[in-house]
Amino acid sequence: MKKDKYSIGIIGATGLVGREFLEILEQRNFPVMKLYLFASENSMGEVIKFKGTDYIVETLNEDSFKKKKIDIILSSPGASASSKYSPLAAKEGAVVIDNTSYFRMDDDVPLVVPEVNPDDIRYYGKKNIISNPNCSTIQMVVPLKPIHDKYKIKRVVVSTYQSTSGAGKKAMDELFYQTTGVINAKGDIFPEKFPIQIAFNCIPQIDVFSEDGYTKEEIKMVKETHKIMHDKGIGITATTVRVPVFFCHGESVNIETEKPFDIKDIKTMLSETKGIKVVDNIFSDNPDERYPYQTHVAGLDDVFVGRIRKDFSIQNGLNIWVVADNVRKGAALNAIQIAEILIQKYL
Ligand code: NAP
Repeated sequence: MKKDKYSIGIIGATGLVGREFLEILEQRNFPVMKLYLFASENSMGEVIKFKGTDYIVETLNEDSFKKKKIDIILSSPGASASSKYSPLAAKEGAVVIDNTSYFRMDDDVPLVVPEVNPDDIRYYGKKNIISNPNCSTIQMVVPLKPIHDKYKIKRVVVSTYQSTSGAGKKAMDELFYQTTGVINAKGDIFPEKFPIQIAFNCIPQIDVFSEDGYTKEEIKMVKETHKIMHDKGIGITATTVRVPVFFCHGESVNIETEKPFDIKDIKTMLSETKGIKVVDNIFSDNPDERYPYQTHVAGLDDVFVGRIRKDFSIQNGLNIWVVADNVRKGAALNAIQIAEILIQKYL
C-alpha cells in the first residue's frame, strides 16, 4: 500500500546544502513522518529545528541506518563520505539522493534534473542511488533542454562565475574574513578553501587541474551534460571561475544550433518552460527587470535567464546569461524535486 508519509534521513544536515534541505522540505510541505539528521562528529548533539520540533544531530557511522527503516536519504557530506555511506544506506532499503560527485558518472546511477530527464528516475533501483548533478551543470541544462529539443544544439561554450557557497560554508567564511581583513588592513591572507585570495579576485580554477589543462569542474560540466541530455554529440567547452560572491552562480552560455531560429521564439520558448524565469528587459527603468543578477536571485527556485541575443559571429549562434541559486536549484531543491517524483510515481 502506498504510504502517505515517509521517513527521511539527511546526511550533512549541518552544512549549507543540509540546512537548505530542511528549509525546502518545510516550505514544500514534504510528507515527512520521521526525520533523522546526520553529520560528522564535530556536530554531535547539535540541535536543529524542523517544523517547530527539535532534532538532535547524530554522528554518522556504519550502523546509522540499521533498524530505522528510512525511505529516502538526502545526502551531502562530500564525495569521500558518500562513497562509503550512500551504499550502506541503500543496502538498508533507503533510496539515496546523493549530492556529491561520487556516483554521478556511474552507469547504474541515474543523474537527474527533473525539468530535463525526470523519466531516468525509474532506474533508481539498480543501486538504490540517484545522483544530483553539479550545481553549474544543473542551471545550464535547464535552458539548454528546450533549445536542443527544437533546434538541436551543435556546440556550447560556457564560462561560469561561481559563488563561494558552491564550495561549502567554510569557503563562504573565507570570503567574508578575507574581505573584512583586506578592508581593515588586518594581517596576511591565508587561503585555505581556495588556491589564492578570493576577496577582490576572480579565480579561474575550480577543483583540481587535469593533464589536459581543464579543471575537474569543467570536465564535470561536459560529461554530466552529455549524460543528462542523453546526447554525447553536443560539443561543450567550459571555463569555470570562482568570483567573490556569496550565493548564486552566473553563466555566460554561447550556443550554436543546427537549425536556424528566431530570437523571439527562443525568448517565448524559454519563458514558457517550467523552472525558468526570463528577465530580459534591458531598457527597463527597474534594474530587477533588466537582467538576472546574484543578489536578486538568491533564495529563489527558478533558473533565471537574460541577455538573450543572437551571436552574429556564426550562422545559428545564441548568447544567454543564466543565474541560479547554487545551494537551492543547484543542490537541495533539485534533490527534493527528485524525491517528490519518487514518492508520486515509484515508492
Ligand atoms: P558544507 O557546508 O561544508 O557541509 C558539509 C556537511 O557534511 C556538514 O554537515 C558536515 O558535518 C558533513 N560531513 C562532512 N564530512 C562528514 C562525514 N565524514 N560524515 C558525516 N557528515 C560529514 O558543504 P555543502 O556546501 O553543504 O556541500 C556538501 C556536498 O554537496 C559536497 O559534496 C558538495 O560538492 C555538494 N554540493 C554542494 C553545492 C553547493 O552549492 N554548496 C551544490 C551542489 C553539490 P559537520 O558540520 O559536522 O562537519
